[in-house]
Amino acid sequence: ARQFTRPLNDLSNQFNTLLSAVAGADRVFDIIDEHEETSDEKHSMAISTLKGKVEFRNVSFAYEQDGDTVRDLTFIAKPGESVALVGPTGAGKSTIINLITRFYEPVSGKILFDDQDSIKIQRESLRNHMAFVLQDSFLFQGTIRENIRYGRLDATDEEVEKAAIAANAYSFIKRMPKGFDTELSQDGSGISQGQKQLLSIARAILADPSILILDEATSSIDTITEIKIQEALKLLMKGRTSFIIAHRLNTIQQADQILVVDSGQIIEQGSHDELLKKRGFYHSLYQNQLRKDHARAL
Ligand code: ADP
Repeated sequence: ARQFTRPLNDLSNQFNTLLSAVAGADRVFDIIDEHEETSDEKHSMAISTLKGKVEFRNVSFAYEQDGDTVRDLTFIAKPGESVALVGPTGAGKSTIINLITRFYEPVSGKILFDDQDSIKIQRESLRNHMAFVLQDSFLFQGTIRENIRYGRLDATDEEVEKAAIAANAYSFIKRMPKGFDTELSQDGSGISQGQKQLLSIARAILADPSILILDEATSSIDTITEIKIQEALKLLMKGRTSFIIAHRLNTIQQADQILVVDSGQIIEQGSHDELLKKRGFYHSLYQNQLRKDHARAL
């Protein structure tokens, strides 16, 4: 899954423009891979398989010198578990994702993948086991087929189509004038927001990652497409460790684990029921969200 090029915040803004600037997807990576990453540790190794256990041990990180952005983060995600990250804007949710994807390294503490210290693992080989589904899914100028195949460049046409079927994208693609050979413009005009999501789910299915990063859409999508997305996501998430920056109550409620993040710290963690019982921060977030949903429904 060579979908990783940039830390989360920068991704949506810059990806499309950069992608359209050059013809081949391969070359794009050489160009945008300029984010100053330190090189892999001398004795780091490539991993060929990953079950998907992710552990943070007292991880702290700062973008700038002055004060930690996230502090003393500790949690374990077992292989196949879904973990919802919730909390106010600026709390540090994207930063946690940037640490999991290793766009940034902890200042202190450790991140382990399948019980191995991340420092000992070559970044590229780790990212080969990860895929993104973002709310602004990055499409590039090219055919629908090329856009899906981006998840795994050596996939056959048949595999691309299977992924589209699994992602509930097949029927809308078939309805397009040229089907899988329909050209998408760089801004993805001509297809809806929801259809873009379905394409990025197809891409992720093709990539077959052990770790999945989901940034849930905030914008409203028509009900039928939304059902298709939820269905496809469920299938995609099965057996994979997923980290979801979640906005929907439904998603959060169904997560195996919720990390409540505020001011750079995990202030509560547990399942929906466990957290509600605490009647703490999550409980009030939840009440708030219920009220909003109720108001919207009126
Ligand atoms: P969330 O995803 O929960 O909205 P973020 O992880 O994006 O929160 O941000 C946490 C804090 O880190 C915020 O104060 C934000 O301004 C800051 N921040 C995020 N990205 C950067 C960056 N690249 N450089 C400096 N500060 C950043």
